[in-house]
Amino acid sequence: MVLECLDASRRPLKAYEILAAIRPRGVNSAMTVYRALGRLRAAGRVRRIESLNAFLAVPAGKETASPEKTLGVAICDRCGTVSPFWDEALASVAARDVSLFDVRSLTLELHGFCGNCRPPPG
Ligand SMILES: [Zn+2]
Repeated sequence: MVLECLDASRRPLKAYEILAAIRPRGVNSAMTVYRALGRLRAAGRVRRIESLNAFLAVPAGKETASPEKTLGVAICDRCGTVSPFWDEALASVAARDVSLFDVRSLTLELHGFCGNCRPPPG
């Protein structure tokens, strides 16, 4: 249910928003939601957006490897649209000056304006 809810959403959801959405289906405990989120994160299907304290579904088929390592998000600070992007090279580029560092996770959250909200040039 938690994954369905996140898959259906076009933006990241906070845990209490997920709970509110699935409460009519009989889930009444925030702990249940957090446990489900923990399992989904471990399986690579959900990513936590640290700067928003919210959760975003990782599309099926993109959950392989280490999603936390390769998934970045561009967040529109005006309309809230979140656009995920994948780049296998990001983590190694980020750590290239640290000798022999084995990157296990990378949090890359870009804040700015999406194409619709961007102020016109000039
Ligand atoms: Zn926008």
